[in-house]
Amino acid sequence: INNDSLQTIKTTCAYCGVGCGIEAQVNPHTREVSVQGDFSHPANQGRLCSKGSSLGETVGLESRLLQPVVGGKTVSWDSALDTVSDKFKRIIDEHGPDAVAFYGSGQLLTEDYYVANKLMKGFIGSANIDTNSRLCMSSAVTGHKRAFGTDTVATCYDDLDHAQLIVLVGSNTAWCHPIVFQRIRSAKERNPDLKVVVIDPRRTATCDIADLHLPLASGSDVKLFNGLLHFLNQNDVLDHPFIEQSCDGSVAALEAAAEDAGNLDSVARYCNLPSADVERFYRWFADTDKAVSVYSQGVKQSSSGADKVNAIVNCHLLTGRIGKSGSGPLSLTGQPNAMGGREVGGLANQVAAHMEFHIEGDVDRVARFWQAPNMAREPGKPAVDLFDAIADGSIKAVWIMATNPVVSLPNADKVKAALENCEFVVVSDCVAESDTLALAHVKLPALGWSEKDGMVTNSERRITHQRALLPPAGEAKPDWWIISEVAKRLGFGEAFNYQHQIEIFREHAALSGFENNPFQRLRDFDISGLADISLEEYQSFTPKQWPINTDYPQGKARFFANGKFFTPNQRAQLVALTSRAPGNAVSQRYPLVLNTGRLRDQWHTMTRSALAPRLNQHRPEPFVEVHPDDAERYQLQHGGIAHLLSQWGQMYARVMVTDTQQQGNVFVPMHWSEQYAKKGRMGALVNPVVDPLSGQPESKHTPVSIRPL
Ligand code: SF4
Repeated sequence: INNDSLQTIKTTCAYCGVGCGIEAQVNPHTREVSVQGDFSHPANQGRLCSKGSSLGETVGLESRLLQPVVGGKTVSWDSALDTVSDKFKRIIDEHGPDAVAFYGSGQLLTEDYYVANKLMKGFIGSANIDTNSRLCMSSAVTGHKRAFGTDTVATCYDDLDHAQLIVLVGSNTAWCHPIVFQRIRSAKERNPDLKVVVIDPRRTATCDIADLHLPLASGSDVKLFNGLLHFLNQNDVLDHPFIEQSCDGSVAALEAAAEDAGNLDSVARYCNLPSADVERFYRWFADTDKAVSVYSQGVKQSSSGADKVNAIVNCHLLTGRIGKSGSGPLSLTGQPNAMGGREVGGLANQVAAHMEFHIEGDVDRVARFWQAPNMAREPGKPAVDLFDAIADGSIKAVWIMATNPVVSLPNADKVKAALENCEFVVVSDCVAESDTLALAHVKLPALGWSEKDGMVTNSERRITHQRALLPPAGEAKPDWWIISEVAKRLGFGEAFNYQHQIEIFREHAALSGFENNPFQRLRDFDISGLADISLEEYQSFTPKQWPINTDYPQGKARFFANGKFFTPNQRAQLVALTSRAPGNAVSQRYPLVLNTGRLRDQWHTMTRSALAPRLNQHRPEPFVEVHPDDAERYQLQHGGIAHLLSQWGQMYARVMVTDTQQQGNVFVPMHWSEQYAKKGRMGALVNPVVDPLSGQPESKHTPVSIRPL
């Protein structure tokens, strides 16, 4: 990097929900950026993984969308914005507000997300705004709300340093949240008594630090944790004073768990695990009150995802292992600002600032705050339903922001066909090409990481300022500016007359505390302490965990230490659960279970990570992991090409024969698109089954067949 004009700027990583702090060395004239971990950031304390440390290689202009494009022709911003607003206005006038939709992303900054949600829910008058976070953590949102009354992450990363037992459920933490993994490994080196249990059908890199790996049958998590709850009850490990003081529904939950689990052997049989290993896990959980359960997509991407979350949370509540240092449930979010999206209400079933459609007064309160002329009163369509509505023509215009649903959604061929036939598709993105951009009538160039500036929130509720390092690429604009300009053209100029993102952040912070008083239902998300933040304070903001208000001006590490929750009676709600099989069972025609997931060195649909040459070396092409017995049975050669087929679509992939895979299961990474590998798009295979409570797709369990090419 050229040393002339070097600046050092603190920012955050563009990738996962760990939310690592970065110290970047920047030459704005040459667009050279080099990065290192920020030692002052509590989430990573100086560490970065392979993806984060390669960010400097991804900021070139080669792949960027630099100007607005309408109908394949480069146009001015005014022309593009007029086209978008005219078309949206005509469709809304003719067919009503529910005929249009926004589909956003956990890559958006909080300010961008806030403006998109405000425009759709308060001014257009529909709640048809959903996000790729639906695919990532909506089951955790549902589970938390059922148990705590709000979508509250109770714990923090610091608890990992103080735990005696860490249970990693459905999480290849080593590859998907590498800095959390490194933190656990360091904790284990410091404390040899710390035990790590990995619960995952696959033997992943995360198992390298496991004292016990439970390769359970796909989808059997509720049974395993119902069994744990029953065991804890039988062995008198429950915290009866805490239950008495703080929990409702314990009797029903315990009865349901006992009935569902039966005895330890029946749990082991159902989960396809050795009884001795199940008992060892149960005893370790029973023997320490410092247990953290970390759960990720293996739990959430399931037709019983919310139940799995509650099965885990039940065990923490009934043992009082919550709100204390070194204990509690911790959901790891996939994306850098999935949590920020939850804060602003970026899901179709939320209003804003953790206020809800179904809670009396919340919709009116938000409408009053926004002075909204057309407030949505009912939830909109979650992601899979939203694209189904595009397919059946009831949604006629969609604006997709910073995401690539033609690759990432289940039943992706149907999604592709839906967009091909949609009357009007707008895509705002920082890249010039993606499978989704190829179907856009209008392409709007947005700022990318290193140019955009605003707040993000990581998995432990920590808000950090992601700062601009470089000037905009070409004519690219902030997402909040693009959305506000369309809002003005739709006639809502007064409410969207923002000159700087700080005005949006202040408004978001003020809404979080608006009419939040002891005479109404208290809300967990309250950053009203930032409602008057000055520009200087905003620019120098240091990372803090919400809430940030008069009680906690510097934020707070964990919730529920006082045994009070956010339900109307301030008591946690236990959920009575019965395990259910995944949505589609294997058959003679489709005899294998397809599991999907991330790789260590790629991110989402590779539009950024593929720009870093060294990240492409790890796994250069789509592959399928197959157990040796299945390879023999289906005549597959290691290194050969396999054809995978499901009821919904097909793909081709390189065969990797490995005993890390269970017999009867295959694994395919999620990343490749048609752009990077023809016929290598995993989403085409995945069944469109969703959790009926959360709407999160079952991306971990699709029946498929496999044969050699
Ligand atoms: Fe970025 Fe996540 Fe890696 Fe941290 S762990 S550097 S946030 S990808």
